[in-house]
Amino acid sequence: MFENLQDRLGGVLKNVRGRGRLTESNIKDTMREVRMALLEADVALPVVREFVEQVRGKAMGEDVLTSLTPGQALIKIVNDELMGLMGEANQGLDLNVQPPAVILMAGLQGSGKTTSVAKLARWLLEKQHKKVMVVSCDIYRPAAIEQLRTLAAEVQVECFPSSGDQDPVDIARRAHEAAQQGLFDVLIVDTAGRLHVDVAMMDEIRALHGAIDPAETLFVVDSMTGQDAANTAKAFDAALPLTGVVLTKADGDARGGAALSIRHITGKPIKFLGVGEKTAALEPFHPDRVASRILGMGDVLSLVEEVQNKVDHEQAQRLVKKLKRGKGFDLADFREQLLQMSNLGGLTEFMDKLPGMNEIPDQVKNQVNDKELVKLIAIINAMTPHERQFPAIIKGSRKRRIATGSGTQVQDINRLLKQFSQMQKMMKKMKSGGMAKMMRGLKGRIPGGMPPGRLPF
Ligand code: GDP
Ligand code: MG
Repeated sequence: MFENLQDRLGGVLKNVRGRGRLTESNIKDTMREVRMALLEADVALPVVREFVEQVRGKAMGEDVLTSLTPGQALIKIVNDELMGLMGEANQGLDLNVQPPAVILMAGLQGSGKTTSVAKLARWLLEKQHKKVMVVSCDIYRPAAIEQLRTLAAEVQVECFPSSGDQDPVDIARRAHEAAQQGLFDVLIVDTAGRLHVDVAMMDEIRALHGAIDPAETLFVVDSMTGQDAANTAKAFDAALPLTGVVLTKADGDARGGAALSIRHITGKPIKFLGVGEKTAALEPFHPDRVASRILGMGDVLSLVEEVQNKVDHEQAQRLVKKLKRGKGFDLADFREQLLQMSNLGGLTEFMDKLPGMNEIPDQVKNQVNDKELVKLIAIINAMTPHERQFPAIIKGSRKRRIATGSGTQVQDINRLLKQFSQMQKMMKKMKSGGMAKMMRGLKGRIPGGMPPGRLPF
């Protein structure tokens, strides 16, 4: 996610990061490059202009020019402005109405509405313990109703039956009644999309909106459409009072133009990101975390949440304690982490969120894919405990033995050792306060903060 923008902005800012002194002309040059980076990321022009003006204005202020670490001060301004652009804090759903709270989903065909209905249903069920009903008002494609029925069964929520010969408004009304009678907390209404914004579609969704008075009207939009996403959102907002945006397919979007433009162009917050085809691939949108992800500081907090949901806490605590006692990170720990990573699922997704990861060459990152994970674990399994603790002793004959034992080649062992030493270096960096510093920096923006002691790495 956002790799291109990350690379470009990261590159630009790297140049100023360590500078002891910045001049107005340095800042001007940097801002020119920031502008280019944003335009390449397909951020809408008015957004780019205002962003660059804001940053330039603040950067020319005394604070940066007289700061002891002007480069850092400039990066902080860029970070804060990026955050501000996307809306500062996460905006959740406002479902505080007489139940059932209705969520109406709008958007073009193929934007990901039906998938997002299922994701949201699952999220509300699992994270908020809501009793959820979904209904499809997409009577134009018989497959669309069936698609939602299947997804609802998968995420185990009630699906109100509908069929292609019924009227969408009528379906929605009856579903609403059924949800009321069945004491459901939330009713999510899936609608038909068209390929383009057209009058008939707008009329229909307006009628639906009028009939069921939704608590949330979410606009679902494909992030890959870049700044067009913001413009389509604006067109829908003119017809319907949108309360927020679900930005889908962020997993495939290397540029990030939509994420950076939507709020500014429409005034509506992005509430969720769709990050994959599966029903679990939905994340609440946190502008602060996305900003630090874009600046290559890593989205540690999303990672922490994900990890906290899925990893073995005791094991994590043991590792933290061990690192605190000054004991080094060894191959046995590495194996535990690999095992946990395989619990976490998509490894590449996991790596993206780690701070500093954008500095590790893609080539190295790509070596660690999910199949590789199994192989790495097998290799460490084939070592003796002593070898795991003191990897430096793993030389020629030991390498051959381990390779035979794990059904791999000596170069696989070499690769593992190299990856391990990279990981070890990162651990050292974090231990020496890098992580703690970063957490302090992020604190205050996140309610409650996150105790660094709970980090499993
Ligand atoms: P609708 O026409 O708006 O209802 O769109 P669908 O929900 O049917 O989704 C269209 C396509 O986009 C399907 O193939 C989905 O699997 C895919 N899709 C939806 N959301 C995401 C996402 O967040 N990431 C990825 N990679 N694919 C998605
Ligand atoms: Mg659909």
